[in-house]
Amino acid sequence: MATHHVALIGRPLRRRHSAVMHNAAFAAFDIDAEYELRDIGPDALPEFVAGVRRPEWFGFQVTAPYKRRIMALLDDVEDEARAIGAVNSVAREPDGRLVGFNTDAPGFASAVASDLGVTLTGARVVVAGAGGAAYAVGHACVGAGAASVVIGNRTPAAAAELARHLGDTVTGVSLSDPGLRRALGEATLFVNATTTGMTEPGPVVAVEDLPPDAAVFDLVYVPAETPLLAAARVRGLPAANGAGMLVRQAAIAFRRWTGVADATDTMAAAIAPLLEGAAPPGDADSRRPTGPSPPAP
Ligand code: NAP
Repeated sequence: MATHHVALIGRPLRRRHSAVMHNAAFAAFDIDAEYELRDIGPDALPEFVAGVRRPEWFGFQVTAPYKRRIMALLDDVEDEARAIGAVNSVAREPDGRLVGFNTDAPGFASAVASDLGVTLTGARVVVAGAGGAAYAVGHACVGAGAASVVIGNRTPAAAAELARHLGDTVTGVSLSDPGLRRALGEATLFVNATTTGMTEPGPVVAVEDLPPDAAVFDLVYVPAETPLLAAARVRGLPAANGAGMLVRQAAIAFRRWTGVADATDTMAAAIAPLLEGAAPPGDADSRRPTGPSPPAP
């Protein structure tokens, strides 16, 4: 059994990319630790959190539906995560305190810069979606000083709520609103932060509405090539899927837990076979989701 532990909690846990990335990085940097997948129900959250206060835990990560709910169970939440309204990572401090933070927003900003060469400062951004991921994306854009941020969402009330949360400079409209089409026509970056392309077919907006120099970032990474990205490439627009964001947000949490400055390349190499649809070499069944058991050891 490993000396140290981290875990991802959520329900349902659909993917094991996070475990594969972190376990590859623990092995590469010779750290005796294991990242586990814990598919737990809401009633098990307090017991899980009590367990990770033990010194053998580095911390844990959080996915849907617990990114907001977990905040009340922690000792502290960093300002950026509080501003976003969601915690996706938690560190156990040496004094045993559990501190929540958010790596989705910096992971997104880092990915658009490295994968698309896009700087959010001064960008005119249109974001589709108003769920948890859109909050992190919107916060990253506003925080970096984007020139404009327009949120389009299937449910317009959720877009309006996110826009209010982000501040005066942000507008929230329905995906079918003519204002969204106008914003797309002036955008330098379009971001898909909906599940469209993953669970529903088709691009969430018409790529033809974007100007010829716009870049397209799709948070979806399974499948690797969504209809949105395929349409963007046909138009010759720079386009990238969410794999870069997934890796970068993980590397930020890994650095916080271990002090390793940059595990990005190791993590990206580890999940490349998963993203291509194949299991990575040596990927053990024991690292699949384990069910609602209490934290080990
Ligand atoms: P979420 O909170 O469940 O939000 C889902 C969003 O998708 C909502 O805005 C929803 O609109 C919209 N949507 C659902 N079905 C739709 C449809 N048929 N047409 C148009 N919009 C639709 O999910 P989330 O956590 O924000 O995640 C969103 C996506 O980002 C997922 O694909 C997730 O895998 C991805 N993601 C990627 C990363 C990464 O690191 N690459 C990180 C986080 C999330 P309504 O409000 O109208 O329901």
